[in-house]
Amino acid sequence: MIGKKMEEAINRQINAEIYSAYLYFSMEAFFEAMGLKGFANWMRVQTQEELFHASKFYDYLNARDGRVILKAIEAPPVEWKSPLEVFEEAYKHEVKVTGLIHDLVTLALEEKDHASHQMLGWFVNEQVEEEANASQIASELKLIGDDKKALLMIDRELAARVYTPPAVAGAQP
Ligand code: MG
Repeated sequence: MIGKKMEEAINRQINAEIYSAYLYFSMEAFFEAMGLKGFANWMRVQTQEELFHASKFYDYLNARDGRVILKAIEAPPVEWKSPLEVFEEAYKHEVKVTGLIHDLVTLALEEKDHASHQMLGWFVNEQVEEEANASQIASELKLIGDDKKALLMIDRELAARVYTPPAVAGAQP
């Protein structure tokens, strides 16, 4: 049985992960409206990953005889000035999520909740990748400046991103 504090914290994290999915889903809509299908595809994959993160916490809470409580999801922004601004916001958002995961790790240590601590290790590693991905694309967008041809080249590259199902990724709780 999971402790009350950790149960509440994981419920808040489920909300944060679904908000992440919502944010990327909104970014996808922005790129669709710009005609940048590759960027939109990248965001769709990101949305799927975030929903997987939420499900992973959800399943974990149930496995520990906790109670999942779903709360309202905040509305995401809908407009950005440029693709660069979108990826700068995505990067900032991931840094914030990393902080939330690290707070959960701290709580697990305080509560001597070793099972939660183990489970959270996967998310600590995942956040390194999440930050690196957003940061890399933001750097590329900064480099190309107003070069439309280069933007379309990146768009074509991002069109190739495919969501890897968790079972294949070996990311079970
Ligand atoms: Mg996430």
